[in-house]
Amino acid sequence: MIYLDNAATTKPYDQVCDLVYNEMKNDYVNASAVYDYANHAKSVVDRARRDIAQTIGAITDEIYFTSCGSESDNWALKAVAEAYSNKGRHIITSKIEHHAILNTCQYLESRGFEITYLAVDKAGNVSSRDLLQAIRPDTILISIMMANNEIGTIEPIAELAKLAHERGILFHTDAVQAYDHIPIDVNELGVDLMSVSGHKFRGPKGVGFLYIKRQVKIGSFIHGGAQERQRRAGTVNVAGIAGMGLAAKMAHESLDLVRDETSKLRDYLACKILSTIDDVELNGPGLKDNRLANNLNVIFHGVRGESLLIMADREGIAISSGSACATGSLEPSHVLKAIGLSDDEAYSSIRLTVSELNTYEELDLAVSKLAKIVEDLRRIRRERL
Ligand SMILES: *Cc1c(COP(=O)(O)O)cnc(C)c1O
Repeated sequence: MIYLDNAATTKPYDQVCDLVYNEMKNDYVNASAVYDYANHAKSVVDRARRDIAQTIGAITDEIYFTSCGSESDNWALKAVAEAYSNKGRHIITSKIEHHAILNTCQYLESRGFEITYLAVDKAGNVSSRDLLQAIRPDTILISIMMANNEIGTIEPIAELAKLAHERGILFHTDAVQAYDHIPIDVNELGVDLMSVSGHKFRGPKGVGFLYIKRQVKIGSFIHGGAQERQRRAGTVNVAGIAGMGLAAKMAHESLDLVRDETSKLRDYLACKILSTIDDVELNGPGLKDNRLANNLNVIFHGVRGESLLIMADREGIAISSGSACATGSLEPSHVLKAIGLSDDEAYSSIRLTVSELNTYEELDLAVSKLAKIVEDLRRIRRERL
């Protein structure tokens, strides 16, 4: 397999796999139990919380473990909406958020909240002027993603969060794609809540966290036991949390190095595609602009993206046509529509996301296979016309 779908998920570090296995085997007692055996499990969870807090400049007690990025997003939005509904019922987000945000907003609309979905420019940027115009006296929350999962746009979070704070509005960011690509300091950024997911930075699946600034008073999302300081019930996922803690530490320590290596591979892939295949265009920000180092999004004109995916799959290339969560839906990507693409252009677009584990030889092979597939698909299309 040539894996070019690192925005969908990443390959866990070997050390993380080993740690998860050993934790499952050795620390199987319930971390909330009173007997001494539970102390080690407890200390493993404490260490992960401390390590993760350190990677974002947070206080240890501001980290809450969840089951995934989607849960973190759901918790942040629903709990703020509930806790602050006396103050107002208006929330601002963008048109290019992940479905974990957009569908939660839709749910909140059905519960009487009003949502403003900010438009973005051709490169996917949210503008502070638009945000300023959308803010109302009854706005209680602004949620803008740190980096987009389809086109890689990095949003000006510090600038947007400042506008929110000057008006006493809470700011949440979905940092699921950004966490291992951009150095984050929650205090410098001025965010109140931030969602992150383990499997997007070479940790295990099924574990994530929500950063909740100490001053933010929101309720529990999962009701039950007293875990996570009474804010998120459920027997603690010791192995998953330990694995995510180690992955966080490793990803953080190698962030600059990995980002540089990844962007070289991504730029090489882009060059190779543009020079080998006719009639292609890049979507999203320029490669040297505010864009995730691993992300490419390409229009192959005259080719249906879904057909390209299926043929690429037969050749052992794993790519996707946008968010994995939206694949299978017949709608064109909401992100590509929001940056102004026509339905045809959106349907002809493919996302390729590399990692430091890819090799140049692999990329050469992938492009030569893609070139052949694109040629075949275009020929079939011409013959049909
Ligand atoms: C993957 C992703 C999510 C969802 O995370 P899960 O852990 O898969 O639930 C949310 N937001 C963004 C931007 C993502 O890329």
